[in-house]
Amino acid sequence: MPQTDLDAHIGRLLSGVSHVDEIRISLEIILRSLPVEVIEDFLADPTFRIDLEQLGQNNRSQMFMAAPIGRDVSRCVILRPKLRRASDAFRNYVIAHELAHAFLRNGGWGQYTDREEAADALAAIWGYPRPETW
Ligand SMILES: [Zn+2]
Repeated sequence: MPQTDLDAHIGRLLSGVSHVDEIRISLEIILRSLPVEVIEDFLADPTFRIDLEQLGQNNRSQMFMAAPIGRDVSRCVILRPKLRRASDAFRNYVIAHELAHAFLRNGGWGQYTDREEAADALAAIWGYPRPETW
């Protein structure tokens, strides 16, 4: 993929978190570090997006999901704004873990039938292991 195309795609993926600097910066570092087939998988899905959780009245989470297109379920990664206050290592881990769920379509991976273990294992392969301390 040409670099200018990649920059434009990453810019679009960052647009949902653009107003929270810490999360935007972590997400950009992670997206640019992922294997190209992962980025291409996300870009091939017109429903894929990354957003911040919106808190409504009474701090209840309220998300406005895109309607699924075709037979595939809409994939989106929702990040909590409070992640901005986490350590870099924990923030990066959480973001990579959520992207791994999206890439794995919330399923298992190889020997990992538990989807949480699968997301942790893939995030670790990508360079973002679960930190010892949060
Ligand atoms: Zn998870």
